Amino acid sequence: MSIIEQVNRRRTFAIISHPDAGKTTMTEKLLLFGNIIREAGTVKGKKTGKFATSDWMEIEKKRGISVTSSVMSFPYKDFYVNILDTPGHDDFSEDTYRTLTAVDSVVMIIDSTKGVEPQTIKLFKVCRMRGIPIFTFINKLDREGKDPLELLSEIEEVLGIESYPMNWPVGMGKSFQGLIDRHNDQFIRFLGDEREQIESLDELRKSGDTAIEAVFDELELLDEAGNEFSEERVMKGELTPVFFGSALANFGIRTFFDTFISYASPPKPRKTDKGLVNPDSETFTGYIFKIQANMNPAHRDRIAFLRICSGKFTRGMSVRLTRTNKTINLNQTQQFLASSRETVDEAYAGDIIGIYDPNMYQIGDTLTAGKEEIHYQELPQFPPELFRKVRVKNVMKSKQFKKGIEQLVQEGALQLFRQESNDDIILGAVGQLQFEVFEYRMKAEYNVEVEFTSLGERIPRWLSEVPKDLRLFDSRSLLAKDRFGRFVVLFENDFTYRYFKEKNKDIELIDLFEEN
Ligand code: GDP
Repeated sequence: MSIIEQVNRRRTFAIISHPDAGKTTMTEKLLLFGNIIREAGTVKGKKTGKFATSDWMEIEKKRGISVTSSVMSFPYKDFYVNILDTPGHDDFSEDTYRTLTAVDSVVMIIDSTKGVEPQTIKLFKVCRMRGIPIFTFINKLDREGKDPLELLSEIEEVLGIESYPMNWPVGMGKSFQGLIDRHNDQFIRFLGDEREQIESLDELRKSGDTAIEAVFDELELLDEAGNEFSEERVMKGELTPVFFGSALANFGIRTFFDTFISYASPPKPRKTDKGLVNPDSETFTGYIFKIQANMNPAHRDRIAFLRICSGKFTRGMSVRLTRTNKTINLNQTQQFLASSRETVDEAYAGDIIGIYDPNMYQIGDTLTAGKEEIHYQELPQFPPELFRKVRVKNVMKSKQFKKGIEQLVQEGALQLFRQESNDDIILGAVGQLQFEVFEYRMKAEYNVEVEFTSLGERIPRWLSEVPKDLRLFDSRSLLAKDRFGRFVVLFENDFTYRYFKEKNKDIELIDLFEEN
């Protein structure tokens, strides 16, 4: 197969959702389609919420490092699928956001009983920023949920994206009968026990059931007043195709996946400082979006995750790290196939490979096999939400403390700030776990014990100018500087933020999330 053919069959995506919406259950069903796992119900490890299927564990043992939960790749029909995991729950972090820069499409799962939830909104915003196709799956139709029309309008209003239902449920919960497939003009009857039956719409209409008549009325309304399907707008992330179903009952999943995979985006050209790079270019290029350190001090090795943006990767190839201009032989690489192969010999634009990292890479680094020195667009910084002051327990260790902070902040999981009034060090993180990892690594790698003082959840807003009157700021609206010397105010809560805004209309407060 030519590079173009290989690239065009790539489907690299992530599943985003609020915890408990059904991401793991859905992933498991998809892995079953890909013959990656043999039995459902084994994917989730109770404690970590990560993948712990026996097959995966075997591979994990052989590799000696835990990477399997990050990417799952398999061929499906004519396609080659890469599913990137976006950790939720307690390990929600910058990684979760950055992973979304490495995908070409996204599946958003919504729990029909809950509607659009907070974490869905946060993740959605990042996808929105990138203008990638977003496919919605409304899950748990086997339970009494919200009204389908209400769910659609919630998606449109809360997330600000237009929706197009690809199928439409007949009943819900106990009275759930099946799905009207608008896309293929048929009815898929739900029989339970993972069984379904295809019927014609005429047959369904004739049944005389009043509930069904009401559904046809709804559909008519959608046909007349709803959005029109437009592949172009789906591709731009302006319109989300919506599917209903049940991951647990394995109902509507296959139809969803088949449609998704055919419409989802193959790798697209990516921006660099020297212009766009085409994925089917002959030259191998990519960037590192995530670095995973091994928490076990006996194995200090790290894995850098590289998204291939163009060309073909062959093991042992020589590439250049453009930040340092170093030439590297990529010998120790892994792909996250569930086949017997442990190392990856070949990969194409769209794929993710894991590179052994002897502490050489940084997040955002570009690797290229070409002559031109290109840099993929800097990864956006995501606003942290949790803040803690940190200091060293033993002042004799200040030097190691400083070094440790510098290096760990470089890795990108934590953001460094300094309080303007007293120069105290403040760390900001997207998730709780980052502080624990930081504390652990400071001890294990730098032999430094740290002490935290929590500042709680804060709303960071950057200032466009140097503040003129420092008296405006206090502990509820803490003035600090970020790593780049930009002023930022850490507001205690939404109330203090709005109050401040109201009182100081002349001060421009920037939300980095909205700006990008
Ligand atoms: P995650 O946190 O998003 O990965 O969610 P899980 O896949 O772990 O699902 C959370 C809970 O919802 C589990 O108890 C699942 O069994 C359940 N669940 C998932 N999908 C469905 C569904 O379609 N119907 C019902 N009734 N429960 C579901």
